[in-house]
Amino acid sequence: SLQAPATGREAQGLDQADPLAYGAYFTRALEDLRSESRYRVFVDIERLAGRFPEAIWHAEGGARPVTVWCSNDYLGMGQHPAVVEALVETARRSGAGAGGTRNISGNSHPVVTLERELADLHGKAASLVFSSGYVSNQATLSTLGRLIPGCLMISDAENHNSIIEGIRQSGCEKAIFRHNDLAHLEAILAAAKDRPKVVVFESVYSMDGDVAPIAEIARLARRYGAMTYLDEVHAVGMYGAGGAGIAEAQGAAGLIDIVEGTLAKAYGVVGGYIAADAAIVDAVRSCAPGFIFTTALPPATAAAACASIRHLKASDVERVGQRRQVARVKAALAAAGLPFVDRGTHIVPVLVRDAAACKAAADRLLDRHGIYIQPINYPTVPRGQERLRITPTPLHTDAQIAALVEALTEVWGALGLARTPGRV
Ligand code: PMP
Repeated sequence: SLQAPATGREAQGLDQADPLAYGAYFTRALEDLRSESRYRVFVDIERLAGRFPEAIWHAEGGARPVTVWCSNDYLGMGQHPAVVEALVETARRSGAGAGGTRNISGNSHPVVTLERELADLHGKAASLVFSSGYVSNQATLSTLGRLIPGCLMISDAENHNSIIEGIRQSGCEKAIFRHNDLAHLEAILAAAKDRPKVVVFESVYSMDGDVAPIAEIARLARRYGAMTYLDEVHAVGMYGAGGAGIAEAQGAAGLIDIVEGTLAKAYGVVGGYIAADAAIVDAVRSCAPGFIFTTALPPATAAAACASIRHLKASDVERVGQRRQVARVKAALAAAGLPFVDRGTHIVPVLVRDAAACKAAADRLLDRHGIYIQPINYPTVPRGQERLRITPTPLHTDAQIAALVEALTEVWGALGLARTPGRV
């Protein structure tokens, strides 16, 4: 029978009189989100090239100046003159779009050049560029799983949604190890001795800013005959020689089979990639639907990303400046007794631990102080771990840091939020 099961309209108590009243399904979903303070409101921000982190907020009452403190343009490279110039110059030369998929007329010289640059950055034989970091994880992991029959995917408990979705779509059996827990990982590896397996993990985890013990994880994986897949999305451009990432900084790059990264965060543009040996990259290029059946990155985007990578390979100025301003933000937060997480990286989460209070704090920061920090709520973080995730860049001035901490102190006082224990 094609009758709906009991989870349908009647079971949900929706209007029976009008069979076309589908809107009720959606309004109910939205009401649920609102009742949990999880309904997301976009802030209408206009970025201004050359002025980052200053921006314009198009508020209901009119345009207002704001300082952005939650951007993933971690080094401000999205507005670097060399990057913007490469974008504009290549758009003038080649036009706005790619004109097709990579297989059908969309391959372009800037994309080919970008892939050579990325392979060189990671010391791998080859690389492959995707529409985004999300797509690179989803397309690569789902394809790997299909190309390795009987594969067990071993995934860190805090891996990003794009990894979770890629593994799910691979159809492989999956085992989850406790976050960064080597003993738990080893127990899983030992129990799966005689089958192919891939250990999938990240280098810098985006919500706490903590770092994986990459060399230890990779050595364990090797000992038990597992491949390694490392997401360096929050690290490329910022850590390691020339911005090659944390694996390089830890001397472990050679132990990683597939590294995945983004062109959208430290590199300031858009797109994602993997770098690996030639056969792996060629197989993903040839078999991954998420790569094959979609339009290629535009030549101008690829040229801009390439300019950004080349700049950060040669220059430490941005990385040094970022580390200095990150340290200053942490010192100022500690001095003010505001509760923040410090795991030694550039991600500085200030803990609120309540969804409604987190949203209220973000609203007050924006409205009263012209400071934009998006609240981070469930399911991005577990319930009770709601936070304001601050990402200082080399372009934030000391005066902006002082204004930030003053504003947070005012908001914490006004909303009666917990102030201790400082650095956690
Ligand atoms: N991996 C991780 C760990 C991420 O946090 C994100 C997104 N923020 C992605 C992949 C996706 O990258 P992109 O934004 O380039 O799609």
